[in-house]
Amino acid sequence: MPKAPSEWTVLSMLEWATEFFEERNVKSPRMSIEWLLADVLSVKRLDLYLIYDRPLTAEELDVLRPLVKRRATHEPLQYITGHTDFYNVRIFVEPGVLIPRQETEELVAWILELYPKGETFSVLDVGTGSGCIPVALKKARPEWDLFATDISDKALSVAKNNASQSEVDISFARDDIFNPQAFSDRTFDLIISNPPYILHSEKSTLDKEVKDYEPEEALFCESTVQMYGALEQLSSGALSADGTVFLELHEDNSGEVLDLFEQANWSAELKNDYGQKTRFLKAKKA
Ligand code: GLN
Repeated sequence: MPKAPSEWTVLSMLEWATEFFEERNVKSPRMSIEWLLADVLSVKRLDLYLIYDRPLTAEELDVLRPLVKRRATHEPLQYITGHTDFYNVRIFVEPGVLIPRQETEELVAWILELYPKGETFSVLDVGTGSGCIPVALKKARPEWDLFATDISDKALSVAKNNASQSEVDISFARDDIFNPQAFSDRTFDLIISNPPYILHSEKSTLDKEVKDYEPEEALFCESTVQMYGALEQLSSGALSADGTVFLELHEDNSGEVLDLFEQANWSAELKNDYGQKTRFLKAKKA
């Protein structure tokens, strides 16, 4: 452990903890302590440098210390602080739900760009996790009717809390992608899903933060064909005649997903994320 400074100030804490995290091989060491300290002091991360010589009180240190310890074990920052920013909303997360990803924000942005304000759509998010997708969509398009499912009770309770924190109305139901029953009396103009799409064989390549902390059921699928085949079937049954499906996918398996939809008679296209990885599929019944 690095030597403690003679006085704990914003700056000495940033420096000490950066070194501590570096010793423990924590990802993004400097950003990690900036994030935690900003959360404890309720300031913006970059504003820390405006108050760099402010001493930290004993109470602040008491709050911060256990957070720093948790980060030293590689726990994701979002679980430690309990929240993350997603598109236009704050999303609360805890172990047991997937931490929303930037790629998924891109999916939301793409959908909003394609469907401007005005129309009243009925939209289903399958495997909603924290509820980030429907909460962000409903916030941006209050005139849409949002429905969301997940198989995990934990995820549903987190998602419901996020809807109420963001003051949006969303209908949630527990449901299984492989045996969908929920909302079966309805059809949807848009069906969206960011399903678990990592193959078990890839587990060893994942960051420790991901594989040790995020829920397996939100990360992994048995096979691409099984997961996206189920979503294709679900969509065939639940989409309105003119409806559109939007799916997030693994860049290595995009061709497989595209083939699957084309063979089932959909007209489908793929789209890259900002990292130039093939990440999304959009499909309509041909
Ligand atoms: N739909 C949620 C998200 O995009 C959860 C996805 C999941 O658990 N695989 O974050």
